[in-house]
Amino acid sequence: MTQVAEALRAGQYDQRVGPRGQGEFRLLGATIDRLADELTNRITTLDEQRAQLGAMVAGLQEGVFAVDDEDRLVFHNRAAQRLLGLSDDLDGSIWQAIAVPEIAELCRTTRASGKPAAQEIRLQRGDTTYVLDARATSFETHGQRGVVAVLHDVTNLRRLELMRTEFVANVSHELKTPLTSIRGYVETLLGGAIHDDANNLRFLGKIDQQVERLTAMVSDVLSLARIEATEGGRNGKINDWRQVIADVVEGYEEAGKLQRHTCKVETGDAPVRVRGDAESMTQVLDNLLDNAIKYTPGDGTITVRAYNRDGFAVLEVEDTGIGISAADRERIFERFFRADRARSRDTGGTGLGLAIVKHLTQGFGGEVRVDSELGRGTRFAVWSPIPDGAPTNAG
Ligand code: ADP
Repeated sequence: MTQVAEALRAGQYDQRVGPRGQGEFRLLGATIDRLADELTNRITTLDEQRAQLGAMVAGLQEGVFAVDDEDRLVFHNRAAQRLLGLSDDLDGSIWQAIAVPEIAELCRTTRASGKPAAQEIRLQRGDTTYVLDARATSFETHGQRGVVAVLHDVTNLRRLELMRTEFVANVSHELKTPLTSIRGYVETLLGGAIHDDANNLRFLGKIDQQVERLTAMVSDVLSLARIEATEGGRNGKINDWRQVIADVVEGYEEAGKLQRHTCKVETGDAPVRVRGDAESMTQVLDNLLDNAIKYTPGDGTITVRAYNRDGFAVLEVEDTGIGISAADRERIFERFFRADRARSRDTGGTGLGLAIVKHLTQGFGGEVRVDSELGRGTRFAVWSPIPDGAPTNAG
């Protein structure tokens, strides 16, 4: 019995006394064995829980690390390693290895006060600036105080928040301009110009124009919001660019929008298939064609093409218009960007058309490219992978 008790103390949990001896001794032996069973069970459970916890923390998106009372690293997960560049074989204080004074300071305050603390920290790693939400909590073992820190990467969140704020500011600004203009004309009319037969209709015409701009803007903003809301969740059917082109161009011809230009359609016999819904594809072509017309002086040529190349379905809209400078080409897909504000306004532009095209194209799993030369013309091309099962025809 003494041997078994000693073995258990030394961590050999498989030792048992077994049915031996008589009377009290036999009972004591059985009790020791039950104790050993109980101990084995608890230790197995603890091991399992520790393994589960370990796996959980290791797989966390958040970086987690712990330091002891002398700032020696006692634990860290993969995310912490990635964010802070920690290595396993750190000697001494971790602050010598990771020069992030804010995190060191946070841990120090937490250790001193014994209270949890949090701070937002900017961290430069190579070319990337991370924004981290760092939270530290202290813990005590054997009378000494260590600190556990959790680092939550909020870089994308902050970027999105900034974009949203800018977007709202831009929308408000863009809506204000036509509203101010409408107000000006209304005040003039109210002030007596309504009886000025030489001008009153002209003023009303201006108001009408601004209302149209406002309507276009609101409709584009709503479009963009809708596209963003459904992004990723869109499961488009397979459609053929040739059909979309035929429908859109017919619509334009019927509405007389192509009268001042020559419009060529170049599509082959093979289907040019895209995983996308017909409505989104129509909107892409409509925005590109509308721009081609707006930014091409009369008598120009607009060519719409669809073909398959290198596993991609390609839609092209080419014009012989004013072109886009290299500097502007970098920015035209941004919301509200207009190369020539005055001209875009005159033509009822919102600066959102190409942002919508870009988003929709991403929904097809593709991208939009632009080639252009100032004064000569522009070619927009939408490249999206040919969906599985659709035949490819080069050319
Ligand atoms: P807008 O409503 O102003 O046309 P878009 O987002 O559709 O907004 O286009 C952004 C800007 O890109 C336009 O203001 C214009 O300066 C430029 N642009 C777009 N398409 C063309 C084109 N085909 N030719 C020349 N410039 C273009």
